[in-house]
Amino acid sequence: MERQVGYWHLLTNGRIQCDLCPRHCQMNDGQDGLCVVRGRQGDTLVLRGYGQASSLCIDPIEKKPLYHFMPGEAILSLGTVGCNLTCKFCQNWSITKSERGSSLLDRLGETAMPEQIAAAAASVHCPMVAVTYNEPVVFLEYAVDVAQACHQRGIRTVAVTAGYIDAAPREELFRHIDAVNIDLKAFDERFYRSLVGGHLQPVLETLVYVHQETDTWLEVTTLLIPGENDSDHELHALTGWVFEHLGPDVPLHFSAFHPDWQLRDRPHTTAATLLRARKVAQANGLHHVYCGNVQEESGSHTWCHHCGTRLIARIGWQIADWNLTSEGHCRHCGSRCNGVFAGPHGRWGARRLPIRIRA
Ligand code: SF4
Repeated sequence: MERQVGYWHLLTNGRIQCDLCPRHCQMNDGQDGLCVVRGRQGDTLVLRGYGQASSLCIDPIEKKPLYHFMPGEAILSLGTVGCNLTCKFCQNWSITKSERGSSLLDRLGETAMPEQIAAAAASVHCPMVAVTYNEPVVFLEYAVDVAQACHQRGIRTVAVTAGYIDAAPREELFRHIDAVNIDLKAFDERFYRSLVGGHLQPVLETLVYVHQETDTWLEVTTLLIPGENDSDHELHALTGWVFEHLGPDVPLHFSAFHPDWQLRDRPHTTAATLLRARKVAQANGLHHVYCGNVQEESGSHTWCHHCGTRLIARIGWQIADWNLTSEGHCRHCGSRCNGVFAGPHGRWGARRLPIRIRA
């Protein structure tokens, strides 16, 4: 389904400029932006694929990853197609990149209107819905409508994003989002330019905006790619910036890369690299640093930053032990663990359950 959208203006050369993300695509009639789903039609800009999902699945919240937001609960996760970045290491390229001879839009499935998604989540007692898998910025209007439909039913909303978005749409998006995981892909403009097809500064601005100006719960993920963004120097700079601008309690997830898309000549990230990154982050004062995508136990638990008690033990996506009060305090010393904890933890476990919307 196509829908007219905002965040654009007409240029003096007759082109339309999209003002949703810092890429600022300029389009003649009939042309699409880089993200493919936004394109010019006559004198306006349209979003293609509104109300259609490429993937609809119930996941554990830990898989987003969000470790301090409703731990153990199930989250209905929705993805569409398209992206406003061109990461050479994309781990979800089947729904973000066009391959020769096939249209990304063909990968959209059946209709999943916002109210149908909220109703589906309610019918399976899912307390949260996520816009994830591909970049929700490019389908902003659909994401916002889904979030509003969910809030009307008391269902919380989550976004997983690279944070590459202009200031005005950023405000609109986060007004409707209860928790977010933002990718900080590196701490180096060269990396963003050559491997991501974007710039670092707008992402830093989104991180600071969410932390300082909204009530949205924030966690951050950095995928570590061997030889590209895993030097001690860069890890020190990145984690020092997080401490200074987001504070010690924002959870930071270091995640392991596997060779994919156009970066298949690099090795997998080792557990030792993730643990080294975690050490650097902790030395810089961060309280909650996690290692993901590898079998590494100590980097997946939550520890009390005050007394060292293991607050949440995780085995994979499952919660194995729980030492928090229902208000999120350490049962041993009473210190507050920052996060959104609503009573006892959820019991969804590690299941991944694809679902379909019935007409
Ligand atoms: S949202 Fe899409 S069309 Fe708009 S500037 Fe970004 S990539 Fe271009």
